[in-house]
Amino acid sequence: MGQKKCPHCGKWSSWNMNLTDRCEHCGQPLGGKDLENQERREQEQLKNKEDWLFAIKETDSSFVASLKKIGNFFYTIFMAIISFILWLIAALPG
Ligand SMILES: [Zn+2]
Repeated sequence: MGQKKCPHCGKWSSWNMNLTDRCEHCGQPLGGKDLENQERREQEQLKNKEDWLFAIKETDSSFVASLKKIGNFFYTIFMAIISFILWLIAALPG
């Protein structure tokens, strides 16, 4: 439990370290710029997810959907192996 200066009305409001907490004076979110950045980041992540090759869309047939699930599965394994190798290289002495 702390206090944060409201970016909208400039008064000090109590907040729970949560960017979505609202100012007790004007009712605006206390996060201000930080909250905007956070929301933008979340939207970008969502967009990247939708653009993702194996993202299953509502328009996909069940055949395409299962193909994408398999593709996603192997991609996950592939990335796990790659990161393991990278970790191994980093962990090796010299
Ligand atoms: Zn305020």
